[in-house]
Amino acid sequence: MGKVVAIDGPSGAGKSTLAKSLAEVLGFEYLDTGALYRAVALSLKFKGIAPENDDKKIARALEGVSIEFRDGRVYLNGNDVSEDIRTKEAGHYSSVFSARKPVRDFLLPLQRGFSRGDKDLVVEGRDMTTVVFPDAWKKFYLDASTRERARRRYEQMAILRKNISMEDAIEDVELRDKRDSSREIAPLKRSDDAFYLDTTDMTASQVLDKMIEVINEVF
Ligand code: C5P
Repeated sequence: MGKVVAIDGPSGAGKSTLAKSLAEVLGFEYLDTGALYRAVALSLKFKGIAPENDDKKIARALEGVSIEFRDGRVYLNGNDVSEDIRTKEAGHYSSVFSARKPVRDFLLPLQRGFSRGDKDLVVEGRDMTTVVFPDAWKKFYLDASTRERARRRYEQMAILRKNISMEDAIEDVELRDKRDSSREIAPLKRSDDAFYLDTTDMTASQVLDKMIEVINEVF
């Protein structure tokens, strides 16, 4: 197994931006596991699966589904869905379906498979440091205040021309925090051995510098 830098944290803490930059600096591959959850949610939606459906039905719907992540893009059954997974609806369904056992069971081996061989990896999500890569080479937990995370989300959506109000952004962040932290399987939590970084008052480049400093420290 190659080296894994595992990053967890709530929505809007800057994980994707930082994981991408860090992967570039280190010359590692990058994996956005949220994109995988979003693609699975899309697939379930296409198949008419509703959050009320039982685990058996969800597991059956996932049989034969193919999800790939290459060069920052995500493919569902061979089709590039990188843009489709960024809608508000896909975000909502990924947050809801990610609490379900068949969905997490489906994605666990897929995620671990990315570090097979001697591939070095920067990976980000909600349970990277706790469940998927508990033995990761380096672990980080990125955090920021709710208001700042909502502000970042608001700006991100504006760039994608998917305008939402600041109130919507706050509500969305709070709802996702609640779902991610309270679910029974693989909830979002700070692992004791992860380096905690509150990025509220930091620029992305300050966070990147700090992470590189931590990586270079000899423990
Ligand atoms: O990070 P992103 O917002 O794209 O993730 C979409 C959803 O997938 C999150 O709201 C979260 O509920 C879920 N997720 C997860 N575990 C991960 C990554 C994402 O439950 N490792």
